[in-house]
Amino acid sequence: MRRKLVAGNWKMHGSRRFVEDTLRAMRDATDGQGAVDMAICPSLVHLPLAEKVLSGSRIALGAQNVHPANEGAFTGEVSASMLAEYSVAYVIVGHSERRQLFGENDSLVADKFAAVLAAGMAPILCVGESLEQREQGITHQVVLSQLDAVLDRAGSKVFNRAVIAYEPIWAIGTGRTATPEQAQDVHAAIRQHLAGQDSEAAEHCVILYGGSVKAANAGELFDQPDIDGGLVGGASLKADEFASICESAS
Ligand code: PEP
Repeated sequence: MRRKLVAGNWKMHGSRRFVEDTLRAMRDATDGQGAVDMAICPSLVHLPLAEKVLSGSRIALGAQNVHPANEGAFTGEVSASMLAEYSVAYVIVGHSERRQLFGENDSLVADKFAAVLAAGMAPILCVGESLEQREQGITHQVVLSQLDAVLDRAGSKVFNRAVIAYEPIWAIGTGRTATPEQAQDVHAAIRQHLAGQDSEAAEHCVILYGGSVKAANAGELFDQPDIDGGLVGGASLKADEFASICESAS
């Protein structure tokens, strides 16, 4: 039986005061929440503070990016082992903003994915199509080829503990959400594709939906058989909204 996961991606938002106040409020609001796994991914610079505030809570810590090398002359970058030192449990890799704005390709994403696993954390691998690709009818092809790049590099077994987030690009930060049927269709295709290589990994793999998830639409999305929770951007910046989304997953 898969446990649901709700992970908040705070992107480049927040200040020390915001992080402290919001995480304290989230801790309180999700105190009795035992049925769902929860994580918040603040900016890199806020990880030490977030680690302190979340210590002893049920909310895990996540990071938004990583460099594939363990150390070296890579100015401005951070390694997986450095993140692991701050109790980071999840690391987002392949987010569409990094693919589109920072030129990350499938091969780099696969290297990052492998580095996160090697450091003992769970990667959250983001895959998703653009509006143009959806309109061309190639959504499955695009998403599965993004997944194949990682399967070729890391194998299928690791999906017992790695997380996949299906995030249609046209739904991220736009207020436009995929319908539960549209999301379920892609989630089922991802799980079926994994099952073709490893039925146990497919059964255990947590597949999140991301793209304008909020308290008002989380329930119907999370009710779908292959949707195991959400990767939440904007709505995760409000403690009560995040707690309501977690409630919908329980
Ligand atoms: C995201 O950035 O991963 C995301 C899903 O953002 P939003 O919820 O704001 O669409």
